[in-house]
Amino acid sequence: MEERRPGHLGVTFLGTSSGQPTLTRGLSCVALVRDGDLFLFDCGEGAQIQFRKAGLRFGRLRAIFVTHMHGDHVTGLPGMLMSLQMTGREEPLPIVGPPGIGEFVRETARMIFTGFGFSLDFREHSEPGLVYEDDAVVVEAHPLEHRLFAIGYRFAERDFPGRFDVEAATALGVTPGPDFGRLQWGETVTTATGETVRPDQVLGPPRRGRVVSYCTDTRPCQGSVVLSREADFMIHEATFARDRLDDARETGHSTAEGAAAAALKAGARRLMITHFSPRYTEPDVLLSEARSIFLNTEAAAELREYVI
Ligand SMILES: [Zn+2]
Ligand SMILES: [Zn+2]
Repeated sequence: MEERRPGHLGVTFLGTSSGQPTLTRGLSCVALVRDGDLFLFDCGEGAQIQFRKAGLRFGRLRAIFVTHMHGDHVTGLPGMLMSLQMTGREEPLPIVGPPGIGEFVRETARMIFTGFGFSLDFREHSEPGLVYEDDAVVVEAHPLEHRLFAIGYRFAERDFPGRFDVEAATALGVTPGPDFGRLQWGETVTTATGETVRPDQVLGPPRRGRVVSYCTDTRPCQGSVVLSREADFMIHEATFARDRLDDARETGHSTAEGAAAAALKAGARRLMITHFSPRYTEPDVLLSEARSIFLNTEAAAELREYVI
């Protein structure tokens, strides 16, 4: 897999099954790679095997985001951390999740006599808001509606500077060369004739960064819509087909139609459905039901990278 390419943003599903793995599907885990930085969303059992199959590298992992404490979303975490330990990690690892995620990892590690040579930076959240940021990206969380307390995530790139207008800069008397770079970095420059040129005279409006949302496990809810507003790539669970709507409501899950309706409300550009009940050997029925409401829907295929 091509991991380090400027501007690259890709998502690989490491598991798309709900509740239990099948012979062809693993449990919830999504790998997002941006410019070589890797972020994981959920970590179901077996995630580290899929991680290796996908050609991902442990050394690139920047943070893990967990949605809720159901086993199919967290039981892969101890093994993943043990593999990180074996690769000699020293950099602290942020683990973002609901209350309880820290205790789960610490207690499991204690009971299996495992220690880590890097610090685990647990960030437990139960309110909407910012949960992670670095120079390039911002991640926000919002509660969802599940049987158990769950949070979804919105991963957003920071805005890019607007396009540099070479003709306008030249017309204003800026000499091609380092001054072009200074203007693009937001500095004011002085031309050979002593005129001042500001960045806003030669740069277009800032370009919006790309947005990926991750909404599982949940009933269709306002939280998913808020997280996925105008998202370029919306990931939403679709555990059941239409004929199991009552099961979905009762167990705090969505039908494919429910996921599609949330995508429509959010104004998302592309919807990926995942977290399929093992009863669906193929997700065809889920896909066609979702597409009847939101055409630009795909059923997540494991170990294939979706480029955004
Ligand atoms: Zn689940
Ligand atoms: Zn769950």
